[in-house]
Amino acid sequence: MFDYLIVGAGLFGAVFAHEAKKNGKSCLVIDKRNHSGGNIYCRQTDNINVHEYGAHIFHTSDKTIWEYIQQFVQFNHYINSPIANYKGELYNLPFNMNTFYQLWKVQTPKEAQQIIASQIADLNIQEPQNLEDQALKLVGKDIYEKLIKGYTEKQWGVSCTQLPPFIIRRLPVRFTFDNNYFNDTYQGVPVGGYNKIIEGLLDGIETRLNIDFFTDRNQLTKLAHKIVYTGCIDEYFEYQLGELEYRSLKFEHEQLDMQNFQGNAVFNYTDREIPYTRIIEHKHFEFGTQKTTIITKEYPVQWQRGMECYYPINNEKNTQLYNRYKDLANAENNVIFGGRLGEYKYYDMHQVIGAALKSVQKEFNHEI
Ligand code: FAD
Repeated sequence: MFDYLIVGAGLFGAVFAHEAKKNGKSCLVIDKRNHSGGNIYCRQTDNINVHEYGAHIFHTSDKTIWEYIQQFVQFNHYINSPIANYKGELYNLPFNMNTFYQLWKVQTPKEAQQIIASQIADLNIQEPQNLEDQALKLVGKDIYEKLIKGYTEKQWGVSCTQLPPFIIRRLPVRFTFDNNYFNDTYQGVPVGGYNKIIEGLLDGIETRLNIDFFTDRNQLTKLAHKIVYTGCIDEYFEYQLGELEYRSLKFEHEQLDMQNFQGNAVFNYTDREIPYTRIIEHKHFEFGTQKTTIITKEYPVQWQRGMECYYPINNEKNTQLYNRYKDLANAENNVIFGGRLGEYKYYDMHQVIGAALKSVQKEFNHEI
C-alpha cells in the first residue's frame, strides 16, 4: 500500500511526490497521457525541444521558487519579447516605445502619451459596458484595433462587444524602449528542456502512464492511504453539480527544412482573418542552431467535454459553481485537490510550484 496515489504527473503532482518522498512517504504517480510533465512536456524532434502544449516561459519574482526549481535544471537567459503581426505590419510587444514608434513614428514618451490620451479623450467612454469599451478607455483606438481586437476575438470566439469588461482590468503600457514581456525579476527557459524538471522531481518515484483514474477508480483508490488529485474537479465529482467551462486549443506542428523561419520564438497574429493566434518557433527558446526548424500554429477552440481543458473561464457563473465543488472537495476525506484543474485556476508554473509547496507544508506540517 502506498502512502499517496498522485493522479496527474504534471508540475503539481510531481512537486508533491518529490517532497513526500523526501518526507519518507511512498507515492504512486499515474497519468492518463503517455508521458509525464502535464502541459510543460516537451517532445524532442531533430534535437529541438518542442513545447507540445503551447509556449512555456518560466518567470517569477519569488526567489525561493526560483532557487527551488534550479535544483533540477539550469535556466538560460531567454527573455520573452513577442512580435505582433497585424496584416503584415510588425509591432513589438508588450506595448512600449518601440510599438509607439512603429505605430505613429513618435520618438519620445511625451509624444506617445499625448496621442494615447487624445485618442482616449475623443472616445469619451464613461462606464465601459463591454471589453471593447474597456480596452478603448485604457489605450485608445489604434492600439485596440491593431493589437487587441482581432486577437481577443479569436481567443474567445466572440466579438469584443459581447465580452464583459472585467476580462481586461489593466493593459500595461510602457513608455520605455523595453520589449521584455514580463516584469518579473527572474525569467528563462530550462537548458535542455522542461522534461529535465519533471525527470528530476519524479526520480525514484513509481510512475505509471496511460492510466486514467476514472477507468479503474475503485481499484486505484485502494492502492494508497491518500489521494492527491490534479485532474478536473468537476470530473472527480462526476459532474453532479454541472460542468465547469474551459477554452481549448489546437496545435499544428510543422517541421520545416530551413534554419530560421521567423527569427523569434513567438509571433502573435492580431488580425481576425488569420485563424491562428500565434506561431511558435521552438528553437529560439534555446538559441538553437540546428539545420531545420519546427513551428507550431496555435488555434483557439471551443471546449467540449473530452477535449483538453487549457484555460479555466473564471467568470461569475463558473466561480460560483467551482465554489460549490470546493465545498464537496473540503468534505472529501483523504483527498488533496491541487493544480490548475483541481483548483480551477489559471496558474502559471511558478504559482503551481508555490501552491504544491504550500500543500506539502500543510500536509507535513513543516517549512520546505
Ligand atoms: P497539468 O500540467 O495540466 O497536469 C495535470 C495532469 O493530470 C496532466 O498530465 C493530465 O493528463 C493528468 N490527468 C488529468 N486527469 C487525469 C485522470 N483522470 N487520470 C490520470 N491523469 C489525469 N505557465 C508559465 O509559467 N509560463 C508560460 O509561458 C505558460 N504558458 C502556457 C501556455 C499554455 C497554452 C498553457 C495551457 C499553459 C501555460 N502555462 C504557462 C501554465 C502551465 O502549463 C501550468 O501552470 C502547469 O503546467 C500546471 O501544472 P498542473 O500540474 O497543475 O497541471
